[in-house]
Amino acid sequence: MATRFGDIGRLRPAFGVAAAVGAGFASGRGWWIPALLATAAAAGLFWRAIRRERRRARRESRPATGAASLRPAPGRDPAEAFAAATRLFDEAPRAMLLVDSEGGVAYANLAARTLLERDPAGRPLTASLRDPALHEALAAAFPRAEIDIARHGPAARLIQAWVRPVPVGAASPPPPAPRLKALVVMEDVTAARREAEIRTEFVANVSHELKTPLAAIQGLAETLQGSAREDPEAQARFLRLIAAQTGRMTRLVEDLLSLRRIETDEHVPPRGVEDLGAILDEALSVVRPLAEERGIRIEADDFSGFPPIYGDRDQLAQLFVNLLDNAVKYGGKPGGPPVRLKALGLREGTPRLVGAAIQDRGPGFEDHERARLTERFYRVSAASSKAKGGTGLGLAIVKHIVNRHRGALEIDGAPGKGARFAVWLPMAPAGAAGAAGAALGAEARSGA
Ligand code: ADP
Repeated sequence: MATRFGDIGRLRPAFGVAAAVGAGFASGRGWWIPALLATAAAAGLFWRAIRRERRRARRESRPATGAASLRPAPGRDPAEAFAAATRLFDEAPRAMLLVDSEGGVAYANLAARTLLERDPAGRPLTASLRDPALHEALAAAFPRAEIDIARHGPAARLIQAWVRPVPVGAASPPPPAPRLKALVVMEDVTAARREAEIRTEFVANVSHELKTPLAAIQGLAETLQGSAREDPEAQARFLRLIAAQTGRMTRLVEDLLSLRRIETDEHVPPRGVEDLGAILDEALSVVRPLAEERGIRIEADDFSGFPPIYGDRDQLAQLFVNLLDNAVKYGGKPGGPPVRLKALGLREGTPRLVGAAIQDRGPGFEDHERARLTERFYRVSAASSKAKGGTGLGLAIVKHIVNRHRGALEIDGAPGKGARFAVWLPMAPAGAAGAAGAALGAEARSGA
């Protein structure tokens, strides 16, 4: 007979022992003494057995925790138990799917629903993920595989999937649903793979950039030791070439270090309050002599009375030197139209921005080239850039400096029409520095 404390039959030995002891003694004289003792012993044993049964019953009625919760408690509705067990996986950061023996999705956790942009549960897996390798893996008796799944379309993604068999005895939806077959864990690795590719590409690019001048220096040094040993004129020429190649490597290393420094600081916007006019004067003083040497004029707006900006003075000077130098190098013609440095009026928003634009009337670029100009080592013409001493990193540096300043960079240009690079920087409250004037100058208001 089943009781709240379990089968009462388990208590029978206690009665048995007590009754046997009692009966043995009762057959002799003074029967009531052993009978009393036997009854007391029987009562004691009976009470201990009851307490043991009560403890067991309490243990069983306590809610299970941890892995044990995945097993439905006896008598619990299996569908409800399966839902409760899988609900836990909505908290998991990785996307998870449970696939049944007929290729249907029995369950998808929250991360999977987000990754696939829909709830695939209740439908065949092929409706959400069409990858032959994945379906082949799932068709195996014990599915076990690691697969890269490429999802095509406007937002192309690369998903890494781990497939494992569902262990026997794991929670499963109740019949008539097919039994569970595989667990698929997925991760969107698009960004991580892209970053790894960029890193590999970057190392290859740097090695390539260094290889050319190093090979040139080696060749020149060998010539100096050999055929040019007795030729002072050739020696002077070769030494100049060595100096030029060394200069090229130095510029490359300086640009690389500079890029790394800016990237390291990129999450900390500069809090210094600066006078943009003074920074532009500094940049002009570096570029003007080189431009004049080549017969190229630079016409600059008057930035006095321009509002102060938040910025890093050295980085902004570097940014404007790079842009002015490019305009002179690529967009300037001796005696041709001047390179212009224009003041940009206030642009409302959060933060409020002011800026400067550098404009030339050079060859410009195609739209698809414009989109890539700020990539490291991207050049419209590698030969032209190298002949002009370029490292291919100038505009990447410009972009990162602007990002650090929480500003904006606009690039416009068309073949044969020239180029325009506009840099917008956050305005500091008037009088914050006491440096620049509070109001925008008339020229600044006029925009580019
Ligand atoms: P580089 O060291 O080659 O000048 P940058 O990153 O500064 O590297 O510029 C990348 C490329 O963008 C240049 O090689 C050049 O092809 C193109 N470019 C930059 N500025 C201009 C410009 N003002 N007019 C036309 N092309 C430009």
